[in-house]
This record gives sequence, C-alpha cells and structure tokens, in this order.
Amino acid sequence: MSLIDITTKISTATLDADRTADSVTLIAVSKVQPLERVQQVLEQGHRIFGENKVQEAQGKWPDLRAEFPDTQVHLLGPLQSNKVKPAVALFDAIHSLDRPKLATKLASEIQAQGRAPELFVQVNTGAEPQKAGILPADADAFIKECRAMDLPITGLMVIPPADEEAALHFALLRKIATRNGLANLSMGMSNDFEKAIKFGATHVRVGTAIFGARDYG
Ligand SMILES: *Cc1c(COP(=O)(O)O)cnc(C)c1O
Repeated sequence: MSLIDITTKISTATLDADRTADSVTLIAVSKVQPLERVQQVLEQGHRIFGENKVQEAQGKWPDLRAEFPDTQVHLLGPLQSNKVKPAVALFDAIHSLDRPKLATKLASEIQAQGRAPELFVQVNTGAEPQKAGILPADADAFIKECRAMDLPITGLMVIPPADEEAALHFALLRKIATRNGLANLSMGMSNDFEKAIKFGATHVRVGTAIFGARDYG
C-alpha cells in the first residue's frame, strides 16, 4: 500500500464513524525504514512521523527537518531516563510516559529547556509483564500526579496484546481517557487502525502499511 491508500482508508473510517475529517492524525512510523522511503513520503507532503528510539531519530531527523522544516516527530517507544534530555530537545510528542520517575525527569527537563513535547501516558491494558505502560488500576493516580507536575498530558496510548481482540483494549483506553478528561487516544497500527478509529482514536500509528515491511537484518 502507499500513503494515499492509507489516508483514503482513514478518511473513510473517520466518516463512517460519524467523526469529522480532521479528527484523526496519521503518524507515519518511519523506524528502521530506509531513508529514501521516508524521503518519498515527505515529498508526497506528509509531515508527521513516529520513531521508536531516541538515538535512531537523532541520526536522521535533524537533516530531514532542515529540508522539511514543518515536520513533527513523535517518540512511540520506551524512553529511558538517561535519554530524556535529547528526547525533550528533539520530539514534538512523546507517547510512552509510563512511570513516576520518568514524569519527574520530564518535568525538570521541560523546565530547563523551555520546550515541552505533547505527552501521552502509555497504558498497559493487557497487564503484560514484558510490556511498558502504567497498569489500568494505577492510571488515574498517575495522571493526577503528572498534572500536579504541570506536565502537558493530552492523551493516552496503548499497544494491545497481540493475541487478544484489540477492540476491548481500545474501549478500555477510551474509558480511562474520558474519566480523566483527556481528549487524545493514540491507538491503532497497520493491522487495526480502522477499528481504532471506530473506537475513537485521534492518533493512529501506521508503519508497515505505508512503508512496507521493516528489514531488521
Ligand atoms: C512499530 C510501531 C508501530 C507501527 O507498527 P506497524 O505494524 O508497522 O504499523 C506503531 N506503534 C508503535 C508503538 C510501534 O512501536
């Protein structure tokens, strides 16, 4: 598929869900993709991208942004405390805020740099031990704690368990967001972004379906 196929599918899913055309943001997940493919998508006019690792993003986006200055880059992968400084400097949004220590670090770094990426709290809705994210039962208290630090939390993010019905996890994420007054829902990837839109996704994160399979070799 290509960028245009995906944007068309997003528009259709959005209108089918009786939502306004501009209510869903496509994040093109460019991690691991060859530079020329990323450049092609930039040349087609897309300006919002997602990366998983601070170091990888640092290696490619300063140059690409010099060429395409209005580009936004979102961090989707886990953020280690010792990478908070470059992350605050580089990213326009961070989707993986998931623990008090990271919140404290982000608050002081945002203060120090006078620059604040938009923040999403990642929720581990499936309570999977290997997966990042705050547990659903701890989410309300954690969001409150982040707000007390003046962190600009605008929404929640989820990666549903691979072997479960994603809809249940999308619905749970929406419920937690609603009761905490958060407008944004970062959910839905290549295989399920249309379903996520039906459940209220405001940010879909699509990699493979736009760029092709990632070659980790
Ligand atoms: C890689 C990744 C995506 C994109 O996955 P695809 O299946 O390639 O669309 C989305 N979200 C996160 C957090 C990712 O790590």
